[in-house]
Amino acid sequence: MAIGQNKVVTMNYTLKDDQGNIIQTTDNREPFQFMSGGKQILPKLEEEVEAMIIGSKKNVKIPAKDAYGEYSEQAIQQVKKESFPADVELQIGMEFVANSPEGHQMPFVIKEIKDEGITVDFNHPLAGMDLEFDVELVDIRDATVEEMQHGHVHGPGGHHN
Ligand code: ZN
Repeated sequence: MAIGQNKVVTMNYTLKDDQGNIIQTTDNREPFQFMSGGKQILPKLEEEVEAMIIGSKKNVKIPAKDAYGEYSEQAIQQVKKESFPADVELQIGMEFVANSPEGHQMPFVIKEIKDEGITVDFNHPLAGMDLEFDVELVDIRDATVEEMQHGHVHGPGGHHN
């Protein structure tokens, strides 16, 4: 059963790393919704969810290369302290967003702070991790015209509720 484009998919899931630690879960929360065909979730996960029947559960394992990529040492960079706003007190673990020359947003995190420079990491926080999803497919419905125009799911109360 292929879901195809422009369906609103509702699912519960728990995401674990390869050690079994829970990274994200919809347990005790509203189920997660996304619009199919819009690259809103990992393509590999969407592929697996597409093959599910409503109401069914599935364990999906996704290796790092098909998830957020392998961890890259080249994504670790040194930058000068002066590159940061002067009024921000830098701390390890702080997250920033840099703009690439092409205008892409590139999030990074501070790894190390030294007088000679700041070590930053552009790897995705889940880079290098094999992921495991426990998925329960709750519902699939057609996206409304408005949702298709916006490219995202609207809540039951209409626009952006
Ligand atoms: Zn909208």
